Amino acid sequence: MASNGYLKRWMQAVGLIYVLLFLRTPVYAGMGHMPGSYGSVQTEADPASGEEAEGQTLPGPRIALTFDDGPDAGTTPVLLDGLKERSVKATFFVIGENIEKDGNKAVIERMHEEGHLIGNHTYHHVNLAGLTKEEAHRELAMTDELITGITGEEVLLVRPPFGAFPERMEEELDKLYIKWTVDPLDWTTENVDEIVRRVVTEVEENDIILLHDCYESSVEAALRIVDVLQDEGYEFVTADRLLVE
Ligand SMILES: [Zn+2]
Repeated sequence: MASNGYLKRWMQAVGLIYVLLFLRTPVYAGMGHMPGSYGSVQTEADPASGEEAEGQTLPGPRIALTFDDGPDAGTTPVLLDGLKERSVKATFFVIGENIEKDGNKAVIERMHEEGHLIGNHTYHHVNLAGLTKEEAHRELAMTDELITGITGEEVLLVRPPFGAFPERMEEELDKLYIKWTVDPLDWTTENVDEIVRRVVTEVEENDIILLHDCYESSVEAALRIVDVLQDEGYEFVTADRLLVE
């Protein structure tokens, strides 16, 4: 389940306000002594490293799949079926106005029940940097309220649309802003092979992969990405686990 309580305690413990993830330069890399920091163990994204001489299997390199712009009552359940079959937990950054569309509340409920992490992608899919502080706050608050109304859990993660971080959100102290490290631009093509190729040739340990669950091609690609990378020994975790464990 989304380790909300733990994540929150950790945020308080380190006094962290913003976590901004930029291309392969995540801030936590410089923080050194996080609880249970995997940073102290240099593991290569190498399938061979998953095995010890004694034959004992070590945890594989971890990565996170993240999906923006849903939920979509047509495509998201197909993705959820595939993730469940593969025992994969993902992170969904959902749009408030999409939650309110027919049938989509049930999709959010299912995400939550099946152990996926749900984050905020604003209510209207807006550029937060272009809004007043009040408008930006409302965009997040309206979506938080919808998610919490369904899951009963506080929403801690935000992915700002267009990767545009708000400049005047100092008051949103309880939020983690999560960007991505691998962006295959899945929305620019319906070619599933191409989307899969763009991800699997790029990916490294601790990457955060950005996809969109509102496209059939992206959903199909996501499940193939899981198959390829699980074969290579990767473990898929929710985005918060890359930060706190
Ligand atoms: Zn988006």
